[in-house]
Amino acid sequence: MQEDNLLSMKQTLVAKRAAILNKSLEFTREQREEEIGFSRADETEIASVDTNLTLSYQIHERERTVLLQIDRALSKIAEGNYGKCEDCSIDISPKRLEARPFAIYCIECQEEREANNANKG
Ligand SMILES: [Zn+2]
Repeated sequence: MQEDNLLSMKQTLVAKRAAILNKSLEFTREQREEEIGFSRADETEIASVDTNLTLSYQIHERERTVLLQIDRALSKIAEGNYGKCEDCSIDISPKRLEARPFAIYCIECQEEREANNANKG
């Protein structure tokens, strides 16, 4: 990958990382506000808030995974091996990196891993 492409990729990753972190902060604040609200809410309200919390927690989990992948991609840029599949070491296609700048596997290895996970679950 060319130097200027790499730089813009890094900027994309850093910006995405910041956006997720901001959202997480917001999420934590909202959660705290909802917890304070619990003492005043009746049981029906607690039940519905609980569902919302579970839902935002799942979103949060997924974002945390992305965050880890972004960190990994950033350290790969620093090490100079960004854009290579961690499994088979081929260059990940630029199209794929454009869609998922934090991809650490090529499409074949990613699909294989997903298939393996599906079998396990
Ligand atoms: Zn691969």
